[in-house]
Amino acid sequence: MRNVIIIGSGCAGNTAAIYTARAGLTPLVISGHEPGGQLSITTEVENFPGFPEGIMGPQLVENMKQQAIRFGAEYISGKVEEADLSQRPFRLKIDEEWHECRTLIVASGASARWLGLPNEQKLIGHGVSSCATCDGFFYKGKKIIVIGGGDSAMEEANFLTRFGDEVTLIHRREEFRASKIMLDRCKANPKIKWLTNTIVEDVLDAEKGYVDAVKLKNTKTGESWTQEVDGFFLAIGHIPNTQPFVGQLDLDEDGYIISHGGARTNITGVFHAGDVEDRTYRQAITASGAGCKAAIEAERFLEAEGH
Ligand code: NAP
Repeated sequence: MRNVIIIGSGCAGNTAAIYTARAGLTPLVISGHEPGGQLSITTEVENFPGFPEGIMGPQLVENMKQQAIRFGAEYISGKVEEADLSQRPFRLKIDEEWHECRTLIVASGASARWLGLPNEQKLIGHGVSSCATCDGFFYKGKKIIVIGGGDSAMEEANFLTRFGDEVTLIHRREEFRASKIMLDRCKANPKIKWLTNTIVEDVLDAEKGYVDAVKLKNTKTGESWTQEVDGFFLAIGHIPNTQPFVGQLDLDEDGYIISHGGARTNITGVFHAGDVEDRTYRQAITASGAGCKAAIEAERFLEAEGH
């Protein structure tokens, strides 16, 4: 029986682990299928306070983990397959094994969204990617496409110009939701070409087993064409990882946890932290702040119950 189980090892989960570990609660952290969360697939983080020269995302999140371990947090890798929050202790099935806890902090984040194209999933890892940091290196001197109009798309397009000969940013509208500074940085990069009002109809060629082209369509003119490409990078947002909690935790229409004030969910003793609830700020520092809040609430809850 654990005092605290924390699901997720991104900024939210790791910060919750640091706080609950320092409170002597020996938290168990479930690393999940994307250990380290979003920071583990980003490059330089320039806006996390305390690092005037910036720090690499994977390094920052690893530092947090080591800090938590120093105070007694334990980490296991694995995915939560099932959860039973109907009574306490709460029960979680992880890799066929059930774990029990008095409090639960859900910091499972949100995963990359895919377009749902006929050949997209078949070509993941063979030209289709949702992680420029992970896969950009493979596209030295190649033609690259980035899909999206938010900050992630800008960040990825800029980063990929380090490798690709040509980076084309494709967005379904004319207007961008990216912040001005990120958009301006991209606009100033001569290696980036722009295709707006354009959607992807499919990525080719599944029969060859690697990406060599995309089918595109201009939504204003209706014109369709095929363009040669080697790397196809998605940066179109994320889906919250709340599948095991459907029907138990209050979720909004997109699956994000609905907060019941502070870090509380609709179930007493279950707390939320980070992107799994936050669809507004979604920053490393806000996720860390949320992890801290969840940890303090879990600690006070356990204390009030005499643990
Ligand atoms: P986002 O802001 O939600 O943007 C997603 C983009 O993908 C939008 O432009 C959207 O188009 C497009 N899109 C979504 N579904 C699509 C589909 N089916 N087909 C074509 N296009 C589709 O997501 P994000 O860029 O990942 O950013 C998420 C949050 O993280 C934001 O708050 C952002 O500021 C933050 N962030 C910050 C940094 C940084 O500061 N360094 C870096 C990355 C992300 P529409 O615009 O038409 O909806």
